[in-house]
Amino acid sequence: MSALTDLSVHASLDLLRAGQVTSRELTQAALERISALEPRLHAFLTLTPELALRQADAADLRWRAWQHDPAGDPPPLLGVPIAVKDVLALKDVRCTCGSKILDNFVPPYTATAVERLLAAGAVIVGKTNCDEYAMGSSTENSAYGPTFNPWDTNRVPGGSSGGSAAAVAGRYVPAALGTDTGGSVRQPASFCGVTGLKPTYGRVSRYGLVAYGSSLDSVGAFARSAADLAPFFTIMAGYDTRDATSMNLPVPKIDLDGAPDLDGMRIGVPQEYFIKGIQPEVEAAVRQAIVTLQSLGAQVRPVSLPHTEYALPVYYLLAPAEASANLARYDGVRFGLRQPAENMIGMFKASRGAGFGPEVKRRIMLGTYALSAGYYDAYYGQAQKVRTLIKRDFEQAFEIVDAIAAPVAPTTAFRIGEHTDDPLAMYLEDVFTLPANLAGVPGLAFPVGFDRRSLPIGMQLMGPHFREEILFRLAHAYQQATGWHLRQPDLSI
Ligand code: GLN
Repeated sequence: MSALTDLSVHASLDLLRAGQVTSRELTQAALERISALEPRLHAFLTLTPELALRQADAADLRWRAWQHDPAGDPPPLLGVPIAVKDVLALKDVRCTCGSKILDNFVPPYTATAVERLLAAGAVIVGKTNCDEYAMGSSTENSAYGPTFNPWDTNRVPGGSSGGSAAAVAGRYVPAALGTDTGGSVRQPASFCGVTGLKPTYGRVSRYGLVAYGSSLDSVGAFARSAADLAPFFTIMAGYDTRDATSMNLPVPKIDLDGAPDLDGMRIGVPQEYFIKGIQPEVEAAVRQAIVTLQSLGAQVRPVSLPHTEYALPVYYLLAPAEASANLARYDGVRFGLRQPAENMIGMFKASRGAGFGPEVKRRIMLGTYALSAGYYDAYYGQAQKVRTLIKRDFEQAFEIVDAIAAPVAPTTAFRIGEHTDDPLAMYLEDVFTLPANLAGVPGLAFPVGFDRRSLPIGMQLMGPHFREEILFRLAHAYQQATGWHLRQPDLSI
């Protein structure tokens, strides 16, 4: 199989610029690898080969024109193949959200984040598998069957953006889009040994992202290194009039040139993230990575995020509450599946009953209960107050440090089926990722080692609101000094 699929985003762009490879060749290599490995990984729900080759040919035309007359810069991702999580709308391409209820839904418009990548020249090879409506931590809640972890296909890739993480780890594409409401970019990045960013809430427009928990949802991305991920962030980020929560702030330039030097950077280590029950190899690898950052010049000091233990109950009240409101729109009238019944209410019930899977139904019930009159103050109102305390923990910590380093998840990838009968055990996997979403701060996850089963271990760096550049700088320095992110799963074809 062609080594073209091993190329990073940067290496692909260098070869495209030099005229040594065409986007059609890169795209075809991706499509061939996908068709060879999909029976083992199942990372995609929909492939878009014709669209991709059309976009690739258009990119090649532009590259040829530029080579002929190199005036101005070509678009920054011109001709690079990528994948998009199937909760982000792409005009005229089926968008299922991993749900049967949207099996036949074809959006009439494109999400802003995707639109900006298209304008930057990216080539979209397909829509990736995910937990239904992004609810889950393993991609097993997809109505279309799970994705398998490229490092061990008996194990989950993490979730909910498991298809995108597997597509990058499996060398289908050098980068892919995901979304993170409670960890769905960082945790699958950790389980699959790739680099994943959850930007600050409000940094990337949610327009065209199918809503799960609107006050928590953020659009992020996966790549094989921080350096490859950086252009995706800067292209997607920025104000969008179509999302009232998108912030009108300048997007930082991410300058990763120069030697890795972390002099003067202060990294906080929160004791609340090194708790009993964490897999010892995960703790050891994360601590070792912190030592590496220190050896590159960073100062390390303990910080406390005292309300961390409440993040899990707070999230699992607020996210289902918001989901129950957001998912009320799937009534068989406007979108997707419609089950015939005697009357309208019967049709609503039958359509929702047949269209939603068990986890989505569980969350709609939880959320509806938490929002009901008489319980609202005790549950939803209380959770909102505790959310503020969690946010303040971060604000206080960021008065004394530039970033916080912590494990992404308490374990490495678990076995398919290991937690499917026990929703609470599944929710516990999110204990370290939820606080960043509740506080709205950015998080960047990347591999820092492997356990004895050769499964990747991830660390996350969290930063102050709208300071993603700090996270990139730290992760890039780490990746220049170490080689964990270069390891590949053995998927010999
Ligand atoms: N695992 C969490 C949940 O199930 C987070 C999912 C996400 O970030 N979309 O809600």
